[in-house]
Amino acid sequence: MTPPLSAQLTLLDQLPEGFFELEIDTILDLFPTPTLIHLQGDKEPALFVSILLHGNEYSGLKIMQAVLAPYASRLPRSLFLFIGNVEAAYANCRTLPGQTDFNRCWPGCELEPNDYTRMMQQVIQRIQPQHLYAAIDLHNNTGANPHYACLTEVTPTNQHLAAMFNHIGLVFKRPKGVSTMAFNGFCPAATLECGKPGDAAGIQHGAEMIDALLHMDHFPDRPIAPHDLQLVQSLATLNIPPDVSFDFNLSAQADLIFESGFERKNFTEIKPTEVFAFARVSRPLTISNQDGEDVTDEIMRVQNGRVYLNRTLMPAMITLGKTVIRQYCLCYLLTDYH
Ligand SMILES: [Zn+2]
Repeated sequence: MTPPLSAQLTLLDQLPEGFFELEIDTILDLFPTPTLIHLQGDKEPALFVSILLHGNEYSGLKIMQAVLAPYASRLPRSLFLFIGNVEAAYANCRTLPGQTDFNRCWPGCELEPNDYTRMMQQVIQRIQPQHLYAAIDLHNNTGANPHYACLTEVTPTNQHLAAMFNHIGLVFKRPKGVSTMAFNGFCPAATLECGKPGDAAGIQHGAEMIDALLHMDHFPDRPIAPHDLQLVQSLATLNIPPDVSFDFNLSAQADLIFESGFERKNFTEIKPTEVFAFARVSRPLTISNQDGEDVTDEIMRVQNGRVYLNRTLMPAMITLGKTVIRQYCLCYLLTDYH
């Protein structure tokens, strides 16, 4: 059976006419299917960049337009550019119904083989990760987070990659099947979270990083200095039980209330003495660890209508979108990586 259009890989060896003027709502005009573009440059090994694995996270397209525009004739280094979920991008959503999430189906995933896992396999075969300079996957997130890199393997070069982007980096080993994980053991790899979709500062920051990678000769041989990079990892996921009402406004009536500036707590440490939220129910949150086990009572306590954490932790990827919260989670809690 022929795979659906959204799992058919197109191969190109140049940018199509109109690439630099392309807007996300006309992306299907130039890229009707996922596309891998190989551009020759002065230097090898090539850099691999993937964009739009999540359709609504379109900063990656803007970043690559900004990076490539000055090099109309010749790039400083060869480049593979993979343009992922173009149909979801056109529809401005992460993944379309019936598709597999494009950042969960790379080699090493735990899914049964399907059209999407086969397509990512095909990408990997083409780009030969063992011969790449580095692999960068460009993403956005929903809340007001700093820009940061995610690593799935803590190697000296991966740490240099992360520190090039920010002094804080996130290490994660789950979920499986994310793009960056497919490069473990082959070449330096990182996911870059470039703020909210379309955010100008995130686009500029991402473009500077990619441009630097196109020019660099090699990563530093020395291990990274501890003050140049703080590595953190996700300890737990916070969910709000379906029967608990909530709001982000201290004057609202709800079972669970956060202050309106809650989003600004992203990547800041919250001490056990600091009020995390206000609650009028005894179990306003459910907290699960990386293995999905319930660790609510270990992590938090409710005292006199106030929610406290039992140890100093850092919330991240806070979202205020009520649908997203019900569908995925409220935020993650991070701790130092060791
Ligand atoms: Zn994403």
